[in-house]
Amino acid sequence: MSISNNIKQILKELPDKVKLVAISKTHPAACIEEAYACGQRIFGENKVQELTGKYETLPKDIEWHFIGHLQSNKVKYLAPFIALVHGVDSMKLLAAINKEAKKNNRVIDCLLQFHIADETTKFGLDMEEAREILESADYKGFGNVRVVGVMGMGTFTDDEQQTRQEFKNLKAIFETIKAEYFAEDNSFSEISMGMSGDYKIAIEQGSTMVRIGSTIFGERSYH
Ligand SMILES: *Cc1c(COP(=O)(O)O)cnc(C)c1O
Repeated sequence: MSISNNIKQILKELPDKVKLVAISKTHPAACIEEAYACGQRIFGENKVQELTGKYETLPKDIEWHFIGHLQSNKVKYLAPFIALVHGVDSMKLLAAINKEAKKNNRVIDCLLQFHIADETTKFGLDMEEAREILESADYKGFGNVRVVGVMGMGTFTDDEQQTRQEFKNLKAIFETIKAEYFAEDNSFSEISMGMSGDYKIAIEQGSTMVRIGSTIFGERSYH
């Protein structure tokens, strides 16, 4: 299978309202160009340096998403161009994004990352921490970030019922936050959930954005 065939295959299964974020981490620019040639425009990366390098060499109409754990002191490298930060898991990070976005005269879209897996290695907020952020005076004063939804990673497991329940939980978190904090704000609309191994379940549970890497580009090799 080729990259373009893999993308076509996935797009066939995605409802129109679900966006495909092609996760290109570790893969060379040539692979991204192949996906780009068949119309894919949204790509996700999880390393700042790798992302800025690719941003500089690849077409400027690519919409770049950051999907990893972002350190506050590295936000400045992404702020000029990043379209969406998926993994906001602290007030400190949100403040850093706001500050750097302001310097660039931009408003940067963000997703709050929630911890939905039963693995302690995965980052993310719980509901109480999210409330603390959304109710803080600092957050209310941020003019250069826009929280547009939530993101989560399911447990790495073969147990589909568990995965389904975790995605149900994230959808419920989204609905609660929307009702309590964004009732009048239609831009709060995204639920980023689903990867190569579980995106079909994620779509069934209301995902609006799937993050797919290895099913498009093949296995990653880390050197
Ligand atoms: C790597 C990664 C993905 C894509 O994983 P695949 O299993 O290769 O599809 C999705 N989301 C996050 C946060 C990732 O780090």
